[in-house]
Amino acid sequence: MVLATTTQRHKVLPSDNQLLLKNRILIAIWVTAVALFLQCNSSLGQVYTVETVPNTKLVNNSYVSDPAGLLNAYTVSEINGLLDSLEKKATAQVAVVMLPSIGDADRFEFAQALFRKWGIGQSGKDNGLLILVIEDQRNIRFHTGYGLEGVLPDAICKRIQQDFMVPHFKNADYNTGMREGMKEVYRRLTSPEAVAEIYDDGGAPETRNWFVLVGFLWMVTAFVMFFVAWGYKKFKKSAPTLRILIPMWQWLLLYAAIPLAFFMVAYEADIHPGLFFGALYALATLFLVERYSRVQQLAQPVLARGKFQEVYGFLIRQRAYWKVASVFFPIPVWFLARKLNEQAHDYRNRPRNCVKCGAVTTKLSEQQEDEFLQSGQQAEEKIGAVDYDVWKCSSCGAVELLSYPNEKARYTACPKCRFITYQHTGKRELEAATYASSGRGEEEFVCLHCGFVHLIPFVIPMLVASSSSDSSSSSSDSGASWGGGDSGGGGADSSW
Ligand SMILES: [Zn+2]
Ligand SMILES: [Zn+2]
Repeated sequence: MVLATTTQRHKVLPSDNQLLLKNRILIAIWVTAVALFLQCNSSLGQVYTVETVPNTKLVNNSYVSDPAGLLNAYTVSEINGLLDSLEKKATAQVAVVMLPSIGDADRFEFAQALFRKWGIGQSGKDNGLLILVIEDQRNIRFHTGYGLEGVLPDAICKRIQQDFMVPHFKNADYNTGMREGMKEVYRRLTSPEAVAEIYDDGGAPETRNWFVLVGFLWMVTAFVMFFVAWGYKKFKKSAPTLRILIPMWQWLLLYAAIPLAFFMVAYEADIHPGLFFGALYALATLFLVERYSRVQQLAQPVLARGKFQEVYGFLIRQRAYWKVASVFFPIPVWFLARKLNEQAHDYRNRPRNCVKCGAVTTKLSEQQEDEFLQSGQQAEEKIGAVDYDVWKCSSCGAVELLSYPNEKARYTACPKCRFITYQHTGKRELEAATYASSGRGEEEFVCLHCGFVHLIPFVIPMLVASSSSDSSSSSSDSGASWGGGDSGGGGADSSW
């Protein structure tokens, strides 16, 4: 009342200076405009820029920047708890920014600029997520870092907004909407697959990667061995009688099921790498000891029948296996391999009884044995296809000849003299193939004992013109993939 009369008195008071009055009016209008503007701001909300959004993570380690207080304290602390636990579990960082307004600024560019300015997510992993809520635009934006684009594709961001947030936002219940939305974000980012994908290069996950790698290599090796072993069984016709094979179910249990279970347990329990590799070594050792005892068991009945020769061959065939294994698992394989070698040597040189009179026979030296060997057998020995041992009875003079074929040698039986001295010596072209006609060639086989030569003709297929000349169609018509640029603008928007 008093104020009104004063103003009125001022207004009615005559001014001696017209210019002064005009200035006063202009000042009054300006002051009113400023006051109105400030008034509007406090009711509709302040306009924020990327620079003026408070970076609360730096201030009080809060994941929620809510300068206008759109959320209540309970929601803020709830979200902070979730996001803190999320960062500890999966290293992913989520920033929640609640703004009344960004004026006319483009929200995508605003989000991108804020994301970059703050550097949300671990560097190198780019596993950040910015959740930007702009009240006056009635919009929620999820802005994902590169590292989260796999786990939180745009469609999923959109679904979280639509299913968990927008319904509450429509009722102006930001608190419930934000809590529900963040719970879903948390759930998605802490799923085991998500954790595996977004984990940064910390110690533990690194070792888990090792577990996966070793497990994968083991399984690939087992797969290859499986096909080699069972393929060999099927196709190798002249397989030796004594062979190291176990029933398929037993093999699958030992080399596939047990290791797989071990890798899975190790991965789930995230055991110490030392323990992992120790257990792996123990497991491999177990398999090798099992194999060793299998060898002994298989040899027993054959040895009982006096077929030392066969057991010798059996042990020799496995030499390469044990050599490789002793490099990787020196203890105890080195000792097992040595034992097997000794056994092989023993079986070959064990004193034999004469097949005629039963007296003890002696093994002749390489020089002595030649007079009892045929020329073909000498040729076989010379090229390393077969090794012969000659045992001569000291009492009746009977001679026993034992042959040890070298399975690695690439000789076959000669069609003419029948000795294992036949060899593939070459392949040559007699007439080159052209675009008009096929060519001819021949393969040559030679016997290193009797000199028999066998030529087998073969046909070289006619040349075919390549179709690479019409390249125009392939280059212009086929679909091209998008450039593969790093957008960095992943995410989604929802309005309410
Ligand atoms: Zn004798
Ligand atoms: Zn021959």
